[in-house]
Amino acid sequence: MRVILKFDSISTKDSCQRSCRIFAGRTSGCLRRLAIESGGANLWAERWAAGLREWWGWGGESMRLSFHGAASGVTGSCYLLEVEGYRILVDCGMFQGKDELFSSNLKPFSFDPASISAVLLTHAHLDHCGRLPFLVRQGFRGPIYATAPTRYLTEIVLWDAAHLQEEHFQGSQRHTKESGRSGGRTARIKHASPFYSLADVMDTMTLFSRPPDENIPVGLFPGIDVTFYPAGHILGSASIQIVVSGRNRKTRILFSGDLGPSRPALLNPPSPPEDSDYVVMETTYGDRLHRSLADSKDELLDVLEETHRRGGQVLVPTFALERTQDLLFFFREWKTQGQLPGHQPFFLDSPMAINVTHIYEKFPDLLNERLLGQFKVGQDPFVFPDLKFVRTASESRDIQRSKSRAVILAGSGMISGGRILYHLAREIDNPRSSLVFVGYQAEGTLGRTLLDGRQHVTILGSEKDVRLGIHSINGFSAHADQGDLLRWCSSMKTPDRVFLVHGEQRSMNAFRAKLATSGWKDVHIPVLHETLEIPEKKAITNKNKGEVLAP
Ligand SMILES: [Zn+2]
Repeated sequence: MRVILKFDSISTKDSCQRSCRIFAGRTSGCLRRLAIESGGANLWAERWAAGLREWWGWGGESMRLSFHGAASGVTGSCYLLEVEGYRILVDCGMFQGKDELFSSNLKPFSFDPASISAVLLTHAHLDHCGRLPFLVRQGFRGPIYATAPTRYLTEIVLWDAAHLQEEHFQGSQRHTKESGRSGGRTARIKHASPFYSLADVMDTMTLFSRPPDENIPVGLFPGIDVTFYPAGHILGSASIQIVVSGRNRKTRILFSGDLGPSRPALLNPPSPPEDSDYVVMETTYGDRLHRSLADSKDELLDVLEETHRRGGQVLVPTFALERTQDLLFFFREWKTQGQLPGHQPFFLDSPMAINVTHIYEKFPDLLNERLLGQFKVGQDPFVFPDLKFVRTASESRDIQRSKSRAVILAGSGMISGGRILYHLAREIDNPRSSLVFVGYQAEGTLGRTLLDGRQHVTILGSEKDVRLGIHSINGFSAHADQGDLLRWCSSMKTPDRVFLVHGEQRSMNAFRAKLATSGWKDVHIPVLHETLEIPEKKAITNKNKGEVLAP
């Protein structure tokens, strides 16, 4: 519980008001904590808390926004909004990439998890939801709000993350025993001790509230409503607007989450609310334009043809969410139209991606018209005859032993682990084969190293020459590019202030310059753990009708 105080002009009156606020803040905080700890059953406590705050006029001046992840960086999204005595966390993602970045996951949160009133989750990618079980382990017991697909997908993602941590930890224990030394790989995986377990994931999943529908406001706490708007990034992804209203004020803060392109292959395009006072916005690709989807599809088809002609294999490190389903949809389309070269098997060698694909099949109404149309006539847009779903490790090893032509999709998307490592270790020095990147490769990952042109790498403990063809086709990205981000902005009225997050520094700088030319002048790039006070907005009251209007 925090109370905001300003000591620059203390008078007797100020001092008296301050004491009242402290009393109101502390008392309402206790009541709120009582309501939260009792699972929200004590609604009277919530109402008393809200009434008390209103009575004392507490909390009507400013709110605090702090940035605890994806600030001056791309991963670990985590933003804390403190308002009206409530502490609302938007996303709680895992840091990914370099060792030191990954080890940030093990550090305690820079806020008390038990004090968080609620978590709002924009989507199910690990860098947005991956630390939720750690938050729960550290004492968070409030509700988690997310769309229905995000809830399902988050469960898959967190189970996978907990399993991977356990595997890495056991691997590091074995390696340490065998080598009896520290340094090198041992030092790297020392960080991989599990920071949450499957039990923590199960506890986390029990905290999810009834999923909100898109575009329909949900009352979070008295005077605080949230609305989830389609973000077009992955199934269920949302931009979240928090509206704080009360006596003579109404403040709207929009968290973009990750945004999809203007024309996603599978989903409907992002559609934000028209008005927001403050916008916290992602800028992953704020400095560049993707190739068009049509060009990217042509490029991929060319790689398939060339590699087939050479007799090699096409390896695609897959992101289990969205990218895999995009590719399955394109492969099926090409297969149906007879555009694929010769005959070759396609393998989806990722139990997680298979599970995710089944979640996509569960929500056809959230896919775009083209896919929905296929479902309506009994077709599955993600399945075709030459495609085999590979679940077990022994089936995966069978593919690894095969030298014949094949297209293999396997995780992880940045080659930071998973079955793709085994396929790549076998094919990396085979000039007939191809490695195709279809998504973002974070700094410090093997994917980024290969993309940067390194000729020799260590993979699964062995030094290897890189001789297979490497292709990066970025038009499949589930992220908006600079043009898409600007279009998203132009569909809204100019806000008072924008905070750029979830981007590398050069990307955010470039996008800030672009925004300035569009009239969005007040743009701030926060650093990690920066806390800002942001003023609440006065509402315009229409006295004739007695309604409170946005300014
Ligand atoms: Zn994402």
